[in-house]
Amino acid sequence: MNKTMKSFLRKLKIFMEDHWLIIVIILVASILIVLSTIGMSKLDSYARISALANMPLWILVMLVSGAITAFIYVSVLFGYMGRMQKSKIKTKDTHKVCFKDVIGIDEAKEEAWEVVRLLIDRTRLQNIGGKLLRGILMVGPPGCGKTYLAKAIATEAGLPFLSIAGSEFTEMFVGVGASRVRKIFKKARRYAYSDGGCIIFIDEIDAVGRVRAFSWGGGQETNNTLNQLLVEMDGLQGEEGDVIIIAATNADEGVLDQALLRPGRFDRKIYIDRPNLEGREQILNYYFSKVKRDENLDISRLARKAVYKTPAEIENIVKESALIAARNKKEVIGHKEVSEAMERIELGIKHRRKMTVHEREMTAYHEAGHLIVLYILHPTDDVFKTSIISRRNSLGVVHHQPREEIFTNDQNRLMANVKVALGGYVAEKIRFNVTSDGVASDFKQAMRIAHAMVWQFGMGNSDHIGDYTVIPETEISEAIKQNLNEATNQILQKCLKEVTDLLTKERKILDRFAKELLEKEELEYDQIEVIFKEYGK
Ligand code: ADP
Repeated sequence: MNKTMKSFLRKLKIFMEDHWLIIVIILVASILIVLSTIGMSKLDSYARISALANMPLWILVMLVSGAITAFIYVSVLFGYMGRMQKSKIKTKDTHKVCFKDVIGIDEAKEEAWEVVRLLIDRTRLQNIGGKLLRGILMVGPPGCGKTYLAKAIATEAGLPFLSIAGSEFTEMFVGVGASRVRKIFKKARRYAYSDGGCIIFIDEIDAVGRVRAFSWGGGQETNNTLNQLLVEMDGLQGEEGDVIIIAATNADEGVLDQALLRPGRFDRKIYIDRPNLEGREQILNYYFSKVKRDENLDISRLARKAVYKTPAEIENIVKESALIAARNKKEVIGHKEVSEAMERIELGIKHRRKMTVHEREMTAYHEAGHLIVLYILHPTDDVFKTSIISRRNSLGVVHHQPREEIFTNDQNRLMANVKVALGGYVAEKIRFNVTSDGVASDFKQAMRIAHAMVWQFGMGNSDHIGDYTVIPETEISEAIKQNLNEATNQILQKCLKEVTDLLTKERKILDRFAKELLEKEELEYDQIEVIFKEYGK
């Protein structure tokens, strides 16, 4: 028997299993109709006419009572059960994701492609005697395309895709989680039987797969669910073996139970990280190709600006810019719209408060202070925008980012961050000789960095190095604590002095930026650069 015929027969079998009730009803109805037709033909003409005359009434009575019964049946049975135990398993997506839609994460894609090839060649593999992989673990931050890639694997391998989130396994009621696991595997096995394979995608596997807690009370349900999951994974054999489980987690794989990571379970891992510069550019190009954009929009510059952004965030930026362009009655998306979209996503919606003239001026000096320190002293970061329009919880902002991805911070960068944080305070002090409580969050930031530099990273000018935060405070002597705190204060004072010297020296630039901000409220990178150039910076 050829393969399509076999697959057809299997699908038919499953269809019959699923719809046996309806099939029986139709059969019985057909038999009754045939019998009554034969009976009618045997009657004499008067009886036949009288039977025919009564028929509409009978049919009406039957329909009404049938409808009432069906209504009660459906609302009681399904309504009640539906509420009790709604199945959250999502079946086959109508929107198919292909490999070509997954952009900018080439390494992960390559590994995924290998999986697809194995799936396509599984008959050959089985003939050799090899075993198909059972579980794949995708690890990476949210929004980087784990679900997306899993869907693409299913599409390319031509397999049905069932998905469920790990959190849906962890219910309050004992047994529900485990029964959901059984259900999804049952469904997958049937797909494997009819379609030759199936992919189960479990999002947030860490919700069930955490190291099992053998304690009383909480955690018991999660344990049951996890045990059930392990049992089901081990129980897949023969043709059912073509069920592949892909699980995703944002958490470090270290939190997962070792039993899950054993060979034969999730023994293959695909790491998906945030895209690099090149990846971001590709993703931007991809999503901008779907909308109308200004020809002059500089994608590579945007890619630089979108440092650390995930594909999902980039997609969101493009969507948001389209919305803004539409609202502004623009034909195409330009730089301004994208910039506004990024800002809105990052900093929240503008929220103009009525400030007094003095408050506005204070804010303008404060932000100009941050800006100048950042521009002149920071080794790795660029300013993208400065604004004195208030938002959610800030009166103004200097938006800056590293020029390229940085994965570690050296001493210079950390010091520069402290100086930038102090810039606002110093500017207020220089201009007004009094300062505001607007410095609270800056101070928090500066203190946090300086403290970590000394207490954790051995970057302070103290007699001690090492991570003192791992030692219980009671075990650190007062002398050492004092020494460390002094070193922290030294860092802050050193930065304060440098910033004060700088801003006093560049007082003209400070006044100029404050004035520009009061006039324009917002300054973009280009405008800022022009002004600094005027002063030879
Ligand atoms: P995760 O599962 O890692 O949290 P998703 O796969 O749900 O992230 O991604 C969310 C959305 O972001 C996807 O639906 C897709 O539109 C977009 N996306 C994510 N990664 C990519 C990518 N590599 N290329 C294109 N779009 C992507």
